[in-house]
Amino acid sequence: MRWSDPLLVPFLTVSWVGFVLGLTIHLLAWLRGPLPPEALVWVLHGGLFALAIPSTFISHQLARGAGFRNYSKVVLRGSPPWLRRLTVLSGVYWVLAFVIFAVRVGDRKPGPGFMSPESIWLFSALWVVFYLNEAAIFHSAWKLAEVDAARRCSNGHQLPTEANYCPECGAPTR
Ligand SMILES: [Zn+2]
Repeated sequence: MRWSDPLLVPFLTVSWVGFVLGLTIHLLAWLRGPLPPEALVWVLHGGLFALAIPSTFISHQLARGAGFRNYSKVVLRGSPPWLRRLTVLSGVYWVLAFVIFAVRVGDRKPGPGFMSPESIWLFSALWVVFYLNEAAIFHSAWKLAEVDAARRCSNGHQLPTEANYCPECGAPTR
């Protein structure tokens, strides 16, 4: 049991709340709907940075011993496949969002302050992507013991994270 274990479900819940709020604001921004209240913008920014500390720490723990190439595969091994796929998609969207933002703003002078429709559009894209990725990390850490215990060869040996064959007896993974 690690110190972070009892906090995983609260962290996961906060991440999903942030994701849903961020997604709602981002969809409204696409539709040129009403801007969110300024206080909510600060809360979502604050929440993102507050969660970034434990999620960075936990992802380092989960990645222990893994090479950089397989980093996300190893870190998110406790997350369900749909959630892992969603994080990949969100990463692609994040790159696109910058291009779309550059095109939308172009040479126009951005509105005053950070509450312009353009900046809310970009902020909310950031919330969607980062809250989702934090949710995936917390979910993975939460379900990790279960997932790791299930990863055994047909002879019952515990398998390393990325093995397709058992290093001890050569049997394929179940
Ligand atoms: Zn084996």
